[in-house]
Amino acid sequence: MENIHMLIDGQWVGNKDDQWINVINPASNEKTTQIVRGNLQHADLAVQAAKQALKSKEWRAFKPFERGQFLHETARYIRDNAEELAALESLDTGKPSAQATSDVEAAARYFEFYGGMADKVFGDTIPVEADLLNVTVIEPIGVTLHIVPWNYPIQITSRSVAAALATGNVVIVKSSEDTPLSTNFLAKWFHEKLPKGVFQHVTGYGAEIGAALTSHTGINQITFTGSVPTGISVMKSAADNVVPVTLELGGKSPNIVFEDADLERAIPAIVNSIVQNAGQTCSAGSRLLVAESIADEVLESLMKKFCQLKVGPPVHQADVGPIINGKQYERILGILADIGKDAKLLTGGQAVKVDGFENGFYISPAIIEAADHDSAFVQEEIFGPVLSVIRFKGIEQAIELANATDYGLVAGIWTKDIDKAHYTAARIESGQVFINSYGAAGGVQMPFGGYKKSGIGREKSHLAVQNYIQIKNIAIQIRL
Ligand code: NDP
Repeated sequence: MENIHMLIDGQWVGNKDDQWINVINPASNEKTTQIVRGNLQHADLAVQAAKQALKSKEWRAFKPFERGQFLHETARYIRDNAEELAALESLDTGKPSAQATSDVEAAARYFEFYGGMADKVFGDTIPVEADLLNVTVIEPIGVTLHIVPWNYPIQITSRSVAAALATGNVVIVKSSEDTPLSTNFLAKWFHEKLPKGVFQHVTGYGAEIGAALTSHTGINQITFTGSVPTGISVMKSAADNVVPVTLELGGKSPNIVFEDADLERAIPAIVNSIVQNAGQTCSAGSRLLVAESIADEVLESLMKKFCQLKVGPPVHQADVGPIINGKQYERILGILADIGKDAKLLTGGQAVKVDGFENGFYISPAIIEAADHDSAFVQEEIFGPVLSVIRFKGIEQAIELANATDYGLVAGIWTKDIDKAHYTAARIESGQVFINSYGAAGGVQMPFGGYKKSGIGREKSHLAVQNYIQIKNIAIQIRL
């Protein structure tokens, strides 16, 4: 595959003097391509170009409804190329083709959803006094920076870029060094269709070009998805320039299974919520809280399902793909190797060697039962196919345990009792609550974001456009 170049100021950037980073296919640990190791100068060039583009006549001439039409065209382009895009996403992340295909569909939906909103974001007329016309005007916030992780590259790029372009901003996307392919594919489309500098794609290490961008004085807004420590450092950089951030930082989301749950519905959803994308999902249902009276039955069913899951590369039509890279793979195996007397490994958790793909990063899906809710297995995000289980007695303990982590992204509640469901949902500290389902971050229309250390702000839904606007109040005194 040809090397990936950055798109800066309408030019494909990357020459023999640049440093290059290998991109690895996690299914086989083989090199697929190379990206440019972006540096401080690249960051500065991108920001200067973005500032020019924001002021340019060409971009300002796009009327809101035309921006909407363009975003719909982008959705059509994604759908027309869905097979190729899904193949690239699978190659980059190792995820099963069915998951990659649904990620591509979600990407198209983001462009449609925000395309539909482009001419529906408007200000207010505010009554103050008879001879004062007081209005608010909505403006783009400016140069927006989108730092995208490796777990859902096309979805996460699309969800914030679509909202930012709909509201007239310019965007710089920093893709993860592990997964540049689908963003590069989109970059080619934007290069052809948009004025230069409106959409730019930069590559390299987060700690280098990523940090150079987050601390750049020309950036007006940052949307970051990733780990809590990196999110905190992004927020600190942004604070120096008084720049707003939207942070989506993961979780340790509980599925709460009460004794009256419909287990035929609950079990497959719980399995999917933790093995989807090999558990490398911010909204993974990684913590199972189960009523003591049914715990043995639930665990037996889960173990049976876990053992039936096929682990392997996309070409094997596996259920569970590889871990994204060697570093994450070793980290997860290290956590699993550390199981002491406060937890018990019920199934899985082994390195798997797949025929023909012996160097890929495969781990069999694991269930760990912990004796103590304070144990690291229950508190910390493992970000792999590992389900941590705790038994509870009664609804109050279930709620207390559900809230007893630093995170608060998603929760699932399984019960046939509507009062119990609502009572619990009202007391759960998390951005999304699913009752008798587990939406793994749910649809494009549903606000998504975290309480506590799971993040700041909301992505998805009509609310996300608020991240990308400035509100100007204009008061006109009328005197004849
Ligand atoms: P990071 O949070 O370090 O990386 C996420 C993104 O931030 C990547 O694009 C990365 O670029 C970039 N980045 C890294 N450092 C900086 C920086 N100083 N300034 C600006 N951008 C930066 O996550 P990791 O990939 O290291 O994964 C570690 C853990 O993070 C996982 O185990 C998981 O718990 C969590 N995570 C959560 C995700 C979520 O969806 N909420 C997604 C991914 C990870 P690059 O990759 O090129 O270094």
